[in-house]
Amino acid sequence: MTESSNDKLKSLIKYASENSLFYQKMFANNGIDPLSISDASDLSKLPFTTKDDLANFNNDFLCVPKNKVADFVTTSGTLSEPVTFYLTQNDLDRLAFNEASSLQCAGGTSDDIYQLMTTIDKRFMAGLAYNLGINKMGAGIIRVGPGAPYLQWDSILRFSPTVLIAIPSFIPKLLDYARDNNIDFKSSSIKSIVCIGEPIRNSDFSFNELGKRITSQWDVKLYSTYASTEMGAAFTECTAGNGGHLNPDLLVLEVIDDEGNLVENGAVGEVVVTTLGVEGMPLIRYKTGDLCNVHYDACACGNKATRLGPVLGRKQQMIKFKGTTIFPLAIFDVLDMMEEVSIYQVEISKCEFGNDNIAIILPKELDNAEFGSKMNHLFKSKLRVTPNYKYLTEQELSLKIFKEDKRKPEKLIYV
Ligand SMILES: [Zn+2]
Repeated sequence: MTESSNDKLKSLIKYASENSLFYQKMFANNGIDPLSISDASDLSKLPFTTKDDLANFNNDFLCVPKNKVADFVTTSGTLSEPVTFYLTQNDLDRLAFNEASSLQCAGGTSDDIYQLMTTIDKRFMAGLAYNLGINKMGAGIIRVGPGAPYLQWDSILRFSPTVLIAIPSFIPKLLDYARDNNIDFKSSSIKSIVCIGEPIRNSDFSFNELGKRITSQWDVKLYSTYASTEMGAAFTECTAGNGGHLNPDLLVLEVIDDEGNLVENGAVGEVVVTTLGVEGMPLIRYKTGDLCNVHYDACACGNKATRLGPVLGRKQQMIKFKGTTIFPLAIFDVLDMMEEVSIYQVEISKCEFGNDNIAIILPKELDNAEFGSKMNHLFKSKLRVTPNYKYLTEQELSLKIFKEDKRKPEKLIYV
């Protein structure tokens, strides 16, 4: 850790202990002197901050009067009620710096034109962050938003953007649309895609099925990025594609095992962050619930900052199915292997004895014995389980997955 990161950590701890009701209580209740925290290794003296803390004491985290709040956002609340995040003007500047550095890490320059295929409104932080970051780096932006393949291609042909910022599972649909409408996507202006919200790689950095599905059809470079509202920062891949780089100016990262100890190089653990330089709602040792492999060794690009591999899943999302533990991502990966499957939803239901049931909802056209046995075979060989299947018309299923009020396609639901 550089000296400046240490200084930033000390100021953050002092600031939170003076201005956040939640952290004032945390230091007092645990009898800890905030000044005793002088570098990252001292953080282990402090308790973790959990998602429940944020949800139960949301406003106690706010460090400024309401009239200093410049932007109000909420988390997406995949597994719980959304939590409010308050950003000051300084936080927006921090977000712009974060995203500009991230996009530069992914090979971006001021000559690039970015097509933003994610929501910029609906209380969403990411879309705003990209917009601010692209402005800051002096590049161009076309704010198309999610979905709308016609408008996406119209913008690509009209303005010749060089980079897409998109949820990767939308890209195969975009290519299908191009094919159906005789758009020559292979000679388009797009050189790379910054993939948000979903992993495109396996833990060994090879492409997963979704990554392969995109790159086998289209000669573009894919960059993974992992971020969250709580972190207000992103781990983005460089051109080496060996995991997302930590920005040590913005976060202190700990990757921990079940006992709260740091895991070794290459091992899997839960991502815990302390947010440096945040003014509105700083977080100390926040447990994200996300499980990743951590890499402390220097990257091929020469950057020594710690890297995170793809998110393997959320701790709470581990599925116990017929004696096996599975992450939803592994199920998506099997489904993405099958060309016939254009859309799907995975439905998890809890049953007795802590076991879960898995049902895959698919378009009606696929309800035939031949495809059923192909799918069973693939699930058995890849995951050693056979899930249940349900069928809906493509339109019904599409409405269930791409909901107006949701930011990401709902590929996974709990019933
Ligand atoms: Zn690198």
